[in-house]
Amino acid sequence: MAKPIVAVVGRPNVGKSTLFNKIAGKRIAIVEDEPGVTRDRIYTEVEWLNHKFTLIDTGGIEPESEEIIPAQMRRQAELAIETADVIVFMVDGRQGLISSDREIADMLRRSKKPILLVVNKVDTKEQSPHYYDFYELGIGDPLEISSALGLNMGDLLDQIVQHFPEEGVEDYDEEVMKVAIIGKPNVGKSSIINKILGENRVIVSDVAGTTRDAIDTPFSDGEDQYVFIDTAGIRRKSKITEHVERYSVIRSLAAIERADVCLLVVDAEEGITEQDKRIAGFSHENGKGLIIVINKWDLIEKETNTMNHFLKNIREELSFCEYAPVLFVSAVTGQRVIKILEKIKFVSNQHAMRVPTGTLNEVIGEAMLLNQPPSDKGKRLKIFYATQASVKPPTFILFINDKELMHFSYQRYIENRIRENFGFEGTPIRFINREKT
Ligand code: GDP
Ligand code: GDP
Repeated sequence: MAKPIVAVVGRPNVGKSTLFNKIAGKRIAIVEDEPGVTRDRIYTEVEWLNHKFTLIDTGGIEPESEEIIPAQMRRQAELAIETADVIVFMVDGRQGLISSDREIADMLRRSKKPILLVVNKVDTKEQSPHYYDFYELGIGDPLEISSALGLNMGDLLDQIVQHFPEEGVEDYDEEVMKVAIIGKPNVGKSSIINKILGENRVIVSDVAGTTRDAIDTPFSDGEDQYVFIDTAGIRRKSKITEHVERYSVIRSLAAIERADVCLLVVDAEEGITEQDKRIAGFSHENGKGLIIVINKWDLIEKETNTMNHFLKNIREELSFCEYAPVLFVSAVTGQRVIKILEKIKFVSNQHAMRVPTGTLNEVIGEAMLLNQPPSDKGKRLKIFYATQASVKPPTFILFINDKELMHFSYQRYIENRIRENFGFEGTPIRFINREKT
């Protein structure tokens, strides 16, 4: 089940980033950072009353000149409409209603997405003097909040989660492999899609129960069914705005949420960039399968060890997702493009793999014998028992004596032993440590 996406939109200076930071701040304090994963201030994971969602901050672009603002606001609203499940539309309770609020409201109203109207900067118990003016926007009852002081955050979060799509409503059947093709603009994502679809594959135009057929591309290859997620976003290029890095990252986030497997496409001439790291980090954090595709391989002059040098560099730059297989392809010549579907199928299976509990415990027992668990102040870590709780991604519960004793390095060691024995190529693995008394 894809996590819902919530986007905050509104004109500059109403307090969008302040709200985002208020909500994100709480979480960052409790989540342990994993080495190498670049945390991005564009999005944050939120948990409220057993609902998990991704909050994105569409704002934060420095306007280059005054004239750019309306176009950017429009693009921001469009992006929210395309990618979010719930939109929080923020206005300024001190300044009151102004014409650009109306423009944004008009766009949002035309979409069929649930919209929450929030009036920010209401820092006291008193109502904003402009409160009733906001009804004019035609978006229903405005909710007053103060992002700076954190007032009414509970009400806001309650209202957000009430609008989520019903649990269990899936876009596609279980056996359809959902693939997000992600990466920077111009790396060759559409060329790869066209190449794959060009080779005798049947594009299925009518998939029963599909609500997203306007933006996705479902197709089959023999018995195997796939869907490329959000291909409309890849193909429809608005040259100016998609080059704004934030926008292309947000678009990737939305596609990754809905996918099982991500194909990170990288331009061979450019190598791994900061943006690639962020996107790969998001795939990893969300527990998706990941394949790294180095495209435009035809443009690289090859010597004996070129591929190995590339590989080494990729592993260094993306150390947190060593599990991801790497393919070197050319969408132009077609070299190895055929391997991509094979890899997707393989990684999908690994991502959904379940291992027998008996064998798992043998592997962990053996691992503990080979490399003694760490100890602290005379107390040694014990792993009593392990079980695989779920798939997509494979998640293991370790019953242990003391959580404090489970260090990252030992967890990593256990993970490596599991991988050596079972594979799990292309998928992250999660652990839940549970104390047993
Ligand atoms: P954005 O451009 O919409 O992301 O707006 P920012 O979050 O950058 O906030 C713009 C300004 O409004 C900053 O000076 C904030 O400190 C201020 N601000 C944001 N939220 C509140 C609030 O709840 N009360 C008050 N008094 N000021 C706020
Ligand atoms: P997207 O923005 O990621 O969808 O990238 P496109 O598929 O539109 O490709 C961007 C540019 O790179 C186009 O001019 C393509 O012709 C070119 N391109 C894509 N794949 C390759 C490749 O494998 N080799 C070469 N030489 N050029 C490529």
